[in-house]
Amino acid sequence: MVSMKQDIHPLLRVLNEQQRAAVTTPTGPVLVLAGPGSGKTRVLTHRIAWMLSEMHVSPWQVLAVTFTNKAAREMNHRLGTMLGDTSARAMMLGTFHATCARILRREGETLGLSPNYLIFDTDDQLTVMKQVVADLGLDDKKYRPHNLLNAISSAKNELILPADYPVRTYHDEIVARAYVRYQQTLRKNDGLDFDDLLMETARMLQTNPTVVRQYRDRFQHILVDEFQDTNIAQYVILKQLAAEHHSLYVVADEDQSIYSWRGADYRNIVRLREDFPELLEFLLEENYRSTQVILDGAQAIIAQNSDRTPKHLFTEKKGGQPISLNEAYDEQEEADFVADETTRLLRNGHKHGDIAVMYRTNAQSRALEESFIRHNIPYRLIGATRFYSRKEIKDVLGYVRLAHNPDDDVSFARVINVPPRGIGARTISAVAAAAQRAGGSLYAGMLALIQAGGQGGRTERALSAFAAMVAQWVVLRQELSVAGLIDRVVADTDYETFIRDGSDQGESRWENVLALRAVVAEAPDISLTDFLTDVALVADVDELSEEVDAVTLLTLHSAKGLEYPVVFLTGLEEGLLPHSRSIESAVEVAEERRLLYVGMTRAERRLYLTYAFRRSWRGFRDSEPSAPSRFLEDLPDAVLKQPRDRGRQATKTSWTPSWRAAPKRAEAPVRVELQYRTGQRVAHAFYGEGMVLGSELEGRQEMVTVLFGNGIGVKKLLSSMAPMEPLPQH
Ligand code: ATP
Ligand code: MG
Repeated sequence: MVSMKQDIHPLLRVLNEQQRAAVTTPTGPVLVLAGPGSGKTRVLTHRIAWMLSEMHVSPWQVLAVTFTNKAAREMNHRLGTMLGDTSARAMMLGTFHATCARILRREGETLGLSPNYLIFDTDDQLTVMKQVVADLGLDDKKYRPHNLLNAISSAKNELILPADYPVRTYHDEIVARAYVRYQQTLRKNDGLDFDDLLMETARMLQTNPTVVRQYRDRFQHILVDEFQDTNIAQYVILKQLAAEHHSLYVVADEDQSIYSWRGADYRNIVRLREDFPELLEFLLEENYRSTQVILDGAQAIIAQNSDRTPKHLFTEKKGGQPISLNEAYDEQEEADFVADETTRLLRNGHKHGDIAVMYRTNAQSRALEESFIRHNIPYRLIGATRFYSRKEIKDVLGYVRLAHNPDDDVSFARVINVPPRGIGARTISAVAAAAQRAGGSLYAGMLALIQAGGQGGRTERALSAFAAMVAQWVVLRQELSVAGLIDRVVADTDYETFIRDGSDQGESRWENVLALRAVVAEAPDISLTDFLTDVALVADVDELSEEVDAVTLLTLHSAKGLEYPVVFLTGLEEGLLPHSRSIESAVEVAEERRLLYVGMTRAERRLYLTYAFRRSWRGFRDSEPSAPSRFLEDLPDAVLKQPRDRGRQATKTSWTPSWRAAPKRAEAPVRVELQYRTGQRVAHAFYGEGMVLGSELEGRQEMVTVLFGNGIGVKKLLSSMAPMEPLPQH
């Protein structure tokens, strides 16, 4: 036996029989369909190594697609160690979005895109859509920019062009008009949004025979992780590219499909079988991640979903600590439980990095964070306020983007009066009007306005100074490195003085600017275009730095593909998981169940499930008691630490937890957080500066009343939607 082991190729030694078969199969369409922790990602990585070292495949011919940039980096690193050289670097390895962004940089001209096009992130998209809604004279309460963007995103993911948007209702017609206008605005700004990256690439491959031939030759071997979460546009891209060589290798678990709200369609697995009839399928059945108890619990939950292939999963990690199910009075007590238990685990030898706390919605992190701070436990938060969404970072990037393309209206509107340089809302309106008259960008409008004169001495001086500064950046970007350009824009705008207003927040904002500077310094040769592309494609999980030892707080959606020795799943309540938006639809409840399944199967050794009796929401004035998640009913007692008191349980659906009879406290403390206070100064992207007259809750939304200067007057705005930020207090 020992000698046999030595006969095994080194790349295959760390694989089981099923995995080896999948790794060494001849090229052709392959689907590895298997449960969590069974080594799908490992198999994919080894398959690439195997192709490169044993099948005479050149890295240049390989396209490997991962779900996050972080996963791509890890895979790249693994390949480097396995192959012992840097040959894998020539491979195209990254997310669909990053891959498409690179292809479009090279080939976009065939679609009328400039090679320097910019990627508009979620915030930019919202800014554009608000403008569209205003331009079309729509009521933004009835047609919320956010909802319009969602509808357009779904259309793009299904490759539906503006002209083809199906109009069945009045509402569809509005969406169609907004879609047309939105695309025009993006293109006018030389911009693409995330969905455009996919749609335009798919369209190009479908319609341009020269380009598609070129890329079929180039990407002769294509590999995809997390295939169950691909959308139609992504599927079309894969199908187009693989149409000649049929070397398409995908790994998937339909039980972990959790992105249908972003257009993911696990029926792509069915399409794959139809489009590639010679498809070879492999199963992996041994789970290497979790203990038997955790697996049993997770299987019991997912087994309730119909319309799935039952899978047999086993593990050598027999037994294990039972799953701990915990009820708390409210979210605060729940958070304290997590923090206390974390403290105990740390005392018992766990590292902070071993522990992850997961939840359904970002808003749930606040109570957890507060408790972790009180308990002095270092944590890192994935998501919430992304580094690249912070005001100071967006400001600095706004300058840099103007240097890259002064006709970028979104950036122009963002920074024209930041720091305040005496260009008020009235002047900005005049600039916009001039732009409209000239049919050009805001920048062009500003130049026309300066030339026409008549704005009054101070305003004209301010505009001219701003125009001269931007014009100079445009020249300088040719000679300076990105780091040099950042230094220059920060110096020219005197941004440091502006942001370091003496408050702690000012200091930490300035530190963020320095952090951005440091990130750029790490890639001294990067071009401005590449830098802006990278920045736009950074996803939440990518910011997960492994360097600091801290507990990780993340949403269930970000947890895909990750694993931790200890996992806390919090907020397992009706309305949260399953989410209230999903409760009406059996299909959506099934997806929520998969989400829970993904969460549970991240755990290696210990799994805690928690729920609260009451939960106060941002703006939820009288919090109703919440019921434990229906999914918990499917957990067998055998996997639980404290068998539930089933005495009270008449039927499955009326299981009443013990606290229902005797609440531990009488009154629910409802904490409501308003973001704005009366008297606070704010900056609005379109209206300029203003002062908050009042702020109140309407339903779950914060409605802010603001007095803007320059004749704009009083506006009522939804704090979650308005492109508005509090200004530092003087
Ligand atoms: P998910 O569905 O969650 O993405 P996966 O199927 O991709 O999971 P991997 O992440 O590849 O699973 O593997 C799970 C864990 O098991 C990893 O830590 C991996 O290194 C380990 N593992 C996989 N195969 C083996 C094996 N043959 N021997 C030992 N460990 C393995
Ligand atoms: Mg995986």
